Amino acid sequence: MDIDVSHYKRIVILTGAGVSAASGIRTFRGKDGIWDEHNVGEYGHVSVLNKRPDLTWKLFGQLRTQVRESQPNKAHLVLAALERNLDPSQQFTLITQNVDGLHRRAGSINVVELHGNVTRIRCSNDDCDLAPYHDEAIHDRGVLLCQKCLSVLRPDIVLFGEQLPPVQSAQAKLVLQDCDLFVAIGTSGIVPPAARYVQMADTAGARTICVNLEPMAPRNAAFKEEYLGKAEELLPGLFGVGH
Ligand code: NAD
Ligand code: ZN
Repeated sequence: MDIDVSHYKRIVILTGAGVSAASGIRTFRGKDGIWDEHNVGEYGHVSVLNKRPDLTWKLFGQLRTQVRESQPNKAHLVLAALERNLDPSQQFTLITQNVDGLHRRAGSINVVELHGNVTRIRCSNDDCDLAPYHDEAIHDRGVLLCQKCLSVLRPDIVLFGEQLPPVQSAQAKLVLQDCDLFVAIGTSGIVPPAARYVQMADTAGARTICVNLEPMAPRNAAFKEEYLGKAEELLPGLFGVGH
């Protein structure tokens, strides 16, 4: 066990798409990522939602299909077990950039969904009072309209070109400025704001660790330790849970 969490009082874990790769949900970046086949940065941009919402639904329809057919994997389960096994005096926050909801399905409780959830739908009109709702249908053809205001409905996720949701962003900053262990898992660390988060943790004096399939490029000096490999294979041994 390289990371003995009993030594820490305020633990923050940050996860990225790599954590869900073993569940069959492909990453955008990285080896085998879908970035090279589709320019997700272009089609996943908020400007497409404004002009061609059918393309937004088509792109995220694929992700919704994968999410519907997936199950949490060992990486999700280890993180849920870790949280369950802590002493009540220890704080634990799992900040995720993933939009697949698999951490909660695995049993994680204190989860901050920084980029939203692709199985939730909301109205694109900010002034509309339609409450966001859970919906797992695919909707990859055509566009759904809001029953209240007839604006386009959209997946409740942060598109490229959009700001992070203020509440989740504030929650993340609050725990980062005061943490003593920070572990980023399955994220390239180059999608803002993840790269900044490790700096905040480092400034707070935390032990900072990156667990990812590929080495950081460029290297982020705020990470003091790096473990390379698949999250689902490394995490049980690293945390001494579930193996
Ligand atoms: P990212 O920058 O976090 O990159 C994913 C990283 O995971 C890559 O560096 C890759 O090397 C690594 N990786 C791949 N398989 C791994 C494994 N088995 N174990 C450990 N690491 C592994 O994220 P991205 O893919 O560029 O996506 C950008 C954004 O798009 C995300 O932040 C997220 O909001 C969204 N997205 C979400 C999902 C999901 O919810 N599952 C999937 C794709 C994209
Ligand atoms: Zn509406």
